[in-house]
Amino acid sequence: MRVAVYCGARTGHDPRHSAAAAAFGNALAEQAFGLVYGAGSVGLMGILANAVLGGGGEVIGVIPETLATVELLHPGLTQTHVVADMHARKALMAALADAFVALPGGYGTLEELFEVVTWAQLGLHHKPVYVLDVAGYYAPLAALLDHMVVGGFVTPEKRGVVRLVPAVDALMAALVADEVRSPIHSSTGTGRVE
Ligand code: AMP
Repeated sequence: MRVAVYCGARTGHDPRHSAAAAAFGNALAEQAFGLVYGAGSVGLMGILANAVLGGGGEVIGVIPETLATVELLHPGLTQTHVVADMHARKALMAALADAFVALPGGYGTLEELFEVVTWAQLGLHHKPVYVLDVAGYYAPLAALLDHMVVGGFVTPEKRGVVRLVPAVDALMAALVADEVRSPIHSSTGTGRVE
């Protein structure tokens, strides 16, 4: 099982965000779930990757050439893919992963999250999408999604594509249950966006 995680290239102001990134990284390593992420060493991205590596876990980084310096390419990953551009990065991350998780972040995090959400809506993949709602950071997003349903732009069924979870424990329990339901494939290296 490999999990693609989207999160801030900054740490944000609330220390609970960094703590959650570290706790999630530790939990991934403990569960022997691999991490797929944007290969940076800064912000929550770096904290997360270091926690997985510190626990002896697998970390696959995917970064566009142009960002390799800006986001300070992490030198110690299990595997690093340097790709041509953002589109290639997102496509490869999605193909390598069996599930998607967003931690707190900014524009980039939301952009990446909503791309896999819209792909799920279109049936292009059937992988679960989680949002870790650390310290209520994503409560306004949940309210917006509900508002979109009320406004008739998102169906109640598709509202369920974005699964908010309040804590790392709940997130890990959900991912473990997903793996039990659909035993994994990514170790074959084929990944899938179906
Ligand atoms: P941010 O949430 O803005 O801190 O960005 C988090 C990650 O998203 C970083 O690795 C950014 O490189 C990445 N990112 C930013 N903009 C985009 C975009 N348009 N498409 C894909 N990834 C992006």
